[in-house]
Amino acid sequence: MLALEGKVALVTGGSRGIGRAVALELARRGAEVAVNYAHHAEAAQQVVAEIEALGRRAVALPADVGDAEQAAALVAAVLDACGRLDILVNNAGIVRDNLLLRMQESDWDAVLRVNLKGAFNTSKAAVRPMMRQHFGRIINISSVSGLMGQVGQANYAASKAGLIGLTKSMARELAARHITVNVVAPGFIMTDMTAALDESLRERLREFIPLGRFGTAEDVAGAVAFLASEEAAYITGVVLPVDGGLSM
Ligand code: NAD
Repeated sequence: MLALEGKVALVTGGSRGIGRAVALELARRGAEVAVNYAHHAEAAQQVVAEIEALGRRAVALPADVGDAEQAAALVAAVLDACGRLDILVNNAGIVRDNLLLRMQESDWDAVLRVNLKGAFNTSKAAVRPMMRQHFGRIINISSVSGLMGQVGQANYAASKAGLIGLTKSMARELAARHITVNVVAPGFIMTDMTAALDESLRERLREFIPLGRFGTAEDVAGAVAFLASEEAAYITGVVLPVDGGLSM
C-alpha cells in the first residue's frame, strides 16, 4: 500500500511550478488531489490529466485564495468532490518586488493578501473537517526570504516570515487534534517565478548556495510529501529549509 493511499490533498496554486510538482508527488504516493488554480484552467486540467494517468483521482478547482469567501468555497468543493480533506498545501504565492522607497502600497497589500491571508483563509476553512477526522497535515510554503530577508522583497519577505508565525501558532492550537502544521522554506528554485532573473544574477546567486545549484520543484515536493506522511507524525511547528544550504 502506498504511503498516502486514502488521503485527500488540496494544493493551492497547483497548476504550475512548485505546486504542480507537489500535486504530482502526493499523487505518486497515493493521494487523491484537488488542484487549485487562480487563472490557468488549462494548465490545471493538464495536471489533473497527469495525475489520472498515474491511476489517482484528481479535480481542478478555481479560487482566489486571498478572498475569504472563495477560499471557504474551495474547501467546501473539495469536501463535496472527495468526501474529506487530509492534507492542505498552502503554495499559492506572488511577488511584486521593489526597493522599499519605491514600493507602492498596492504592491504591499497584494503580496500580503495572497501569500499570508490566503494561507489563513484556506487553513481556517480546512481545520474544521480535519478536526472531525482527528487527522490533518497543513504545509505552508514560505521562503528563505522570510528567514533572511532580501533586497527588494520587503513585502514578500514579510509575508513569508508571517507564514512562520501563523504556522507555529496553528501548530500549538491544533496539536491536540492530531493536526500537524509545518513550513517548507525553499531557496532559489527553478520555476516561472525565478525565470525572470537574468543569467549573470543567477550565476552570482549560485555562488552563495553550498550545494552549488538552484533547486528543482521536485526537490521541494519531496520535502512536502515527507511532512504529509505518517513518518512525520511527530513533527509539528518546524521550518524546513529546502535551499541547498543557503540559509544555514
Ligand atoms: P509560480 O508563480 O510558478 O506559482 C505560483 C502559483 O500560485 C501559480 O500557479 C499562481 O497562479 C498561483 N496563485 C497566485 N495567486 C493566487 C491566488 N490568489 N489564488 C490561488 N492561486 C494563486 O511560483 P513557484 O515558484 O512555483 O512558487 C510556489 C510557491 O513557492 C510560492 O508561494 C512561492 O512564494 C514559493 N517559493 C518559490 C521559490 C522559487 O525560487 N521559485 C522560492 C521560495 C518560495
